[in-house]
Amino acid sequence: MDVTRLLEDLNDKQREAVAAPATDTLVLAGAGSGKTRVLVHRIAWLMEVESVAPYSILAVTFTNKAAREMRGRVERLMGQALNTMWIGTFHGLAHRLLRSHHEEAGLPENFQILDSDDQYRLIKRLLKSMNLDEKHWPPKQIQWYINGNKDEGLRAKNIETHGDHTQQKMKEIYIAYEQTCQRSGLIDFAELLLRAHELWANNPQVLQHYQKRFRAVLVDEFQDTNNIQYAWLKLLTSNTDNNNMMIVGDDDQSIYGWRGANVQNISHFLRDFPRANTVKLEQNYRSTSNILNAANAVIGHNPGRLGKELWTEGGEGEKISLYAGFNDLDEARFIVSQIKSQHEQGSALADCAILYRNNAQSRVLEEALLHEGLAYRIYGGLRFFERQEIKDALAYLRLINQPIDDAAFERVVNTPTRGLGDKTLSNIRVFARENDISMWQASSKMLAQNMLSGRAANSLKGFVEMILQMTQDVKDLPLEKKADHAMKHSGLFAMYQAEKGEKAKARVENLEELVTACKQFEAPEDAEEMSPLSAFLAHASLEAGDAQADANQDAVQMMTIHTAKGLEFPFVVLAGVEEGMFPSQMSNDEPGKLEEERRLCYVGMTRAMQRLVITYAETRRLYGQDKYHTASRFIREIPGDYIEEVRLRTQIKQPIHNRFSSATSHATFEESGFKLGERVEHKKFGEGTVLNYEGSGEHARVHVNFDSVGTKILMLAYAKLVKI
Ligand code: ATP
Ligand code: MG
Repeated sequence: MDVTRLLEDLNDKQREAVAAPATDTLVLAGAGSGKTRVLVHRIAWLMEVESVAPYSILAVTFTNKAAREMRGRVERLMGQALNTMWIGTFHGLAHRLLRSHHEEAGLPENFQILDSDDQYRLIKRLLKSMNLDEKHWPPKQIQWYINGNKDEGLRAKNIETHGDHTQQKMKEIYIAYEQTCQRSGLIDFAELLLRAHELWANNPQVLQHYQKRFRAVLVDEFQDTNNIQYAWLKLLTSNTDNNNMMIVGDDDQSIYGWRGANVQNISHFLRDFPRANTVKLEQNYRSTSNILNAANAVIGHNPGRLGKELWTEGGEGEKISLYAGFNDLDEARFIVSQIKSQHEQGSALADCAILYRNNAQSRVLEEALLHEGLAYRIYGGLRFFERQEIKDALAYLRLINQPIDDAAFERVVNTPTRGLGDKTLSNIRVFARENDISMWQASSKMLAQNMLSGRAANSLKGFVEMILQMTQDVKDLPLEKKADHAMKHSGLFAMYQAEKGEKAKARVENLEELVTACKQFEAPEDAEEMSPLSAFLAHASLEAGDAQADANQDAVQMMTIHTAKGLEFPFVVLAGVEEGMFPSQMSNDEPGKLEEERRLCYVGMTRAMQRLVITYAETRRLYGQDKYHTASRFIREIPGDYIEEVRLRTQIKQPIHNRFSSATSHATFEESGFKLGERVEHKKFGEGTVLNYEGSGEHARVHVNFDSVGTKILMLAYAKLVKI
């Protein structure tokens, strides 16, 4: 092969890194400067010029998707398949190692991986067997504690408790947890990394084998490695002359501190590998100068950066569009209208990405996309109605609606736990099957005939009575109150509230968001025969079922900013950029958190190649409540030259406390043809009074307080309101 081909399309600095002599190298550079490209070319260079066999290459990426892409790119450069090369995530590679050396690692051949939900459940069972009250020892907190220690490389036996009672107890639980896992051949995510480290640390012959084998070790997104990952890399590569490591990273894109990542690892690398060569890349190839300068200005507000310059030869490009929605629905509609017009001008939908801070934000956006018939795909997270907690809550609503629903029954009969064992459940299942009745009916029969043991009978009776009572209590409530009541009275809400950690917080937020979804739900015209509850449940399952685009379909890409790391898109929308959302409320409480949020904003902005739109909502009904928000400080940190405010609205500013309050100006009402306080009639909702009017043109909507169903917001174009 002509090796100059491997250096084509690279600038001088990039070439320096790709063609560096065999030595350890740090490539430190800002977003879009070609770090990942350098890694790919370096791998090809090593094979082609340094005659390193693919078998001797180990490359670490942050996600499986990135690993697949990297392998594909190297294979294309080399024109051949490279199956013996190891490319993967830390977890994936650790798993592979442990499979090959399960004996040395002290694991049974068929060891199984515990995902984080399994781990949580195991901890719960363990606490019970130790007679520890979950109220005092919340399982999520225990999980956090165990994983956090493992991330630091700490086994239970090595933890100092300094005679502190709580610490001592936590340590005992950790020990019991380790024993249970060991006994059952189970290994959690954090354990994968710790075991892989121990495998090498305790088995010199195994370590030597890999030190000989992996002549080249390359790591992308190094700024987000945690301590045990770094220790693992260090074991492999330090103290030998046989192998070299190239790490690439950007301290400004360190966004996983909350999960144990340690950006200090960059300085540790320079300390531990004193001969390492540092290359800085300064040219950005991804974004227009408006986007790049704006992102640089934002990150410039962080103190203590390693300091990197970043410039582009790309043209100025369009200014960043800023749109202030008067609420979340308006924001979503605006975003979708932008994507639609971009699509009509010839862009593929897949070139458009919507990025947001929290998963819960996706729902309103999803609905707006569905409404316009635009396909979308969500990465790294389930769609709203498929999420575990939402399915739990919906299962209660389904039982209220129709108790013979076995799937719903199975899902929540013991969620939250009510002391119903597998044995009892399987008895109910068998009885139901034999008598050809639902589990709900089987339960009643078995209770009536005293077929269950005292404890099981009591638990089941409690559940049946609770559902009956709930059904009675919510009979006359509006849909959103039904949902709220079911979550609260079933104990579901409290269960998730008691959990600790980011994921649990997101679950509680999602449950609150479900109440909002119920409130905003408008039954379709053809659902007139159904109760609002049935119509809503149908909507939820249909939406979960088939709306998401299949893998090959052109679709808008949706994901959290965390998931978007390393990716790029021609057109990016950053949604929900408001104080209290982004930066999040919590970032005021924890030191260093605001800076991490700002880095996240930098990551988000720098995903955009040609066009960036930033939106926020002045009122957001999120987590079941109206919140009034101002534009994020990050928006204010962008110099005015790079940004252009989009104004579509002619609506009246509303007071903070009530999004449905009456208007303060009449001018725009005249446009609508309706007057404030005027009586109107709607085909389905009957008579009502006009309260407000917002938006203009295709965005125009009226708020009407209907005598029968209360306030509804209707699209003026479709509502067909008649004055009376
Ligand atoms: P991030 O920090 O977001 O991970 P990165 O530094 O890894 O970014 P890459 O993704 O490697 O950057 O590159 C950004 C874009 O610039 C890609 O589309 C890449 O193909 C392109 N690019 C990189 N270097 C060059 C170059 N020398 N000439 C032309 N295009 C380049
Ligand atoms: Mg990259």
